[in-house]
Amino acid sequence: MGDRRAAGRRRDGFAAIGSDGGRPTESGLRAAGQTVVLAVAGPPGRRPPRRDTMEIEIATIGGYEEVGRQMTAVRAGDDVVIFDMGLNLSKVLIHDNVETERMHSLDLIDMGAIPDDRVMSELEGDVKAIVPTHGHLDHIGAISKLAHRYDAPIVATPYTIELVKQDIESEQKFGVQNDLVKMEAGETMRIGDHNELEFVNVTHSIIDAINPVLHTPEGAVVYGLDKRMDHTPVIGDPIDMERFREIGREGEGVLCYIEDCTNAGKKGRTPSESVARRHLQDVMHSIEDYDGGIVATTFSSHIARVKSLVEFADDIGRQPVLLGRSMEKYSGTAERLDFVEFPEDLGMYGHRKSVDRTFKRIMNEGKEDFLPIVTGHQGEPRAMLTRMGRGETPYELDDGDKVIFSARVIPEPTNEGQRYQSEKLLSMQGARIYDDIHVSGHLNREGHYQMLDALQPQHVVPAHQDLSGLSSYVSLAEDEGYKAGRDLHISRNGQMIQLVE
Ligand SMILES: [Zn+2]
Repeated sequence: MGDRRAAGRRRDGFAAIGSDGGRPTESGLRAAGQTVVLAVAGPPGRRPPRRDTMEIEIATIGGYEEVGRQMTAVRAGDDVVIFDMGLNLSKVLIHDNVETERMHSLDLIDMGAIPDDRVMSELEGDVKAIVPTHGHLDHIGAISKLAHRYDAPIVATPYTIELVKQDIESEQKFGVQNDLVKMEAGETMRIGDHNELEFVNVTHSIIDAINPVLHTPEGAVVYGLDKRMDHTPVIGDPIDMERFREIGREGEGVLCYIEDCTNAGKKGRTPSESVARRHLQDVMHSIEDYDGGIVATTFSSHIARVKSLVEFADDIGRQPVLLGRSMEKYSGTAERLDFVEFPEDLGMYGHRKSVDRTFKRIMNEGKEDFLPIVTGHQGEPRAMLTRMGRGETPYELDDGDKVIFSARVIPEPTNEGQRYQSEKLLSMQGARIYDDIHVSGHLNREGHYQMLDALQPQHVVPAHQDLSGLSSYVSLAEDEGYKAGRDLHISRNGQMIQLVE
């Protein structure tokens, strides 16, 4: 009996968020007596009189069935803000020789590589801003394929904007003309007549990350992708928990919190980047006396980690050099925008020819004087470290040479297989492997509890995972008194959640 009641409630909950069940129909509006208001709204073009409440609706477009291709739209009255427009890189890499630069959006949607934004036509409002939270490809990678469909500026922090700009410039299929607007953490922007967009500083595995907050008359909608709670980041300011606590308590409080569930199944707290830095320092100092080759790899976009590698190379008497296209791209951009100060003579080489020339120079002058920091931490077949493993570069590995993976394997079959193969190839040449010198960029369970406590949201929407990944967060949030189908909304790609009707 009790079970059946629970099942009934759950069904109701799902009906409310279904793609066709969540929107008020004509008859639904009439039944609620609201068509009268619409009917006397006056001549076309004039705004209808302000009602007592503002409709708030959330379209969960991408990243609700996978990690990758994040995209969520929030409608507050007549205004719509899009948060993130990302790429699902694994759907691209699984095909050989796919050049996304030349591909049409619909083909990429069919591949599952970019969000299927056709659901946006069901949202009755104007898109006022496209807001990527940080520069990871699963958050910005589809902007060059989709943003031109919206007459709205792209609003992001300076580093993110610069990466978006580079992506747009390399796009060959569409001329993306959207304005690029820089906004820093702590700043706000008006969205239409009644809403305001705010950036709150957060800490993640890339610099200049924020959580955007859309302040509406019904309360704040906080878009919580991606972050960890870092009070001692290696670059930039600590996460602004004070502001999150204020937002949770001022005005109408938080109407809705959309949360990144990546590590919701992991106990405890995600360590600070300064912990990874100390780990890396310990490893590098332990091999200070080694007189052969040492090679390191990490996420190219992880500028704080690259900075630590560069500094510790110098500590142990080696000249660091960044090799690989994306190493040059992310670090070069960060240095140009003054996020990091590298030694003046730090070499960064992206093109194959200049990379190979550098390897030759290292072999001539002596491997023991250098620390190549290269791409390939996931064993990507075309990345530098994998090429080194296959013996395709002038750099020769000898027995006992050290390879430092300052990264963890992204738990995904393609990555796991490729990384395994890369490590095997390196080991076959005699290399010794140091791996997992890393901390995650995402909140563990205790961080999630702290965020719920700070924000006290009325509604919670778990995101950034497939269904099984979301489930850890669901049980965590239910522990905190939320209930799936009532105020805890488990959504799928392409669905709508009606929060205020
Ligand atoms: Zn991220």
